[in-house]
Amino acid sequence: MQNLIDKAKKEHSLTKSEIVKILKDNSVNDYLFKSADEVRKKFKGDEVYLRALIEFSNICRCNCCYCGIRRDNKNIEHYRLEKDEIIKLANFAIQSGYKTIVLQSGEDLFFKANYLAEIIKEIKKSDVAITLSIGERTFEEYKILKEAGADRFLLRIETTDENLYKKMHPNMDFANRKRCLFDLKKLGFETGTGSLIGLPGQTLESLAEDILFYKELDADMIGIGPLIVHPETPLKDEKNGDLILAIKVLALTRLLLPDINIPATTAMETLHPQGRIMALQAGANVIMPNITFEKCKKNYEIYPNKASVNYSKLQTDLENIGRKISNRKGYRKDFLK
Ligand code: SAH
Repeated sequence: MQNLIDKAKKEHSLTKSEIVKILKDNSVNDYLFKSADEVRKKFKGDEVYLRALIEFSNICRCNCCYCGIRRDNKNIEHYRLEKDEIIKLANFAIQSGYKTIVLQSGEDLFFKANYLAEIIKEIKKSDVAITLSIGERTFEEYKILKEAGADRFLLRIETTDENLYKKMHPNMDFANRKRCLFDLKKLGFETGTGSLIGLPGQTLESLAEDILFYKELDADMIGIGPLIVHPETPLKDEKNGDLILAIKVLALTRLLLPDINIPATTAMETLHPQGRIMALQAGANVIMPNITFEKCKKNYEIYPNKASVNYSKLQTDLENIGRKISNRKGYRKDFLK
């Protein structure tokens, strides 16, 4: 098993059955995490990129079975920030030193591409990168957003198991989600995708397929998080995802896509007080602090008890593991420049 991991570390490739073998065997976890950490150090260095997350609307036309802001959850107070409020939050983040602003929302079609373009142009007057995470749109809409100055886009595939995808995403179309991702790549966005770990019925084989899909897309960023059960969703009686399995998928992703950006996700920290640090020591190199207004944060409940980032604690925690907060925008190829 160690030879297999050594091979992945050197050649950045594994077959589906090799990935499954590693996922199945928990005796090699420490070796896997250490190897992914070494690959991270070689290709990304010790700097950790921070992305300021703004959750600007919790209104969503989708009905994803795991998500607390799904359309059928009537038990939430809806909000939608004004253009000026979004710009104000972004400027606050920029003044605080953030070099990337992530604008995330439910799939809220009130925010037409042209309207978002105005917001993007305003924020881009500062020297900052913008990431969007707003769901599925047409090629033409994505083009408007790119031309307005957006740099990156996050759209998780969630699972590459098409049957499971259908079950988890009523009225959504797997082929369209893939189309979106390839369109985003074509348009020159740094494109992020990723998976939920622990969906009911998800197999290790399908997780292996997920990782191979990231490679096929040549994803620039991968966000991996364990499922956290939300009581107001159809998955309310299911179990939370397994944190260690999620970190294993992260580590394997680092071995196979050595130079991409990989966040230690909030869902990992929510399941374990050391989740973020564990991920940072198993291949992750990005953290996404949430800077949304407090009154909105509590209503953007995709899952309960979302962990937050305490900046000075983070600084100490990072120092303790030989890492430090970067003051750069952190594009995929930044370290190589
Ligand atoms: N509407 C945007 C943003 C979605 S929220 C989009 O479609 O991309 C960002 C991510 O949160 C989702 O991609 C999903 O993987 C994750 N998420 C949603 N519900 C979750 C839950 N209950 N537990 C863990 N992660 C969840």
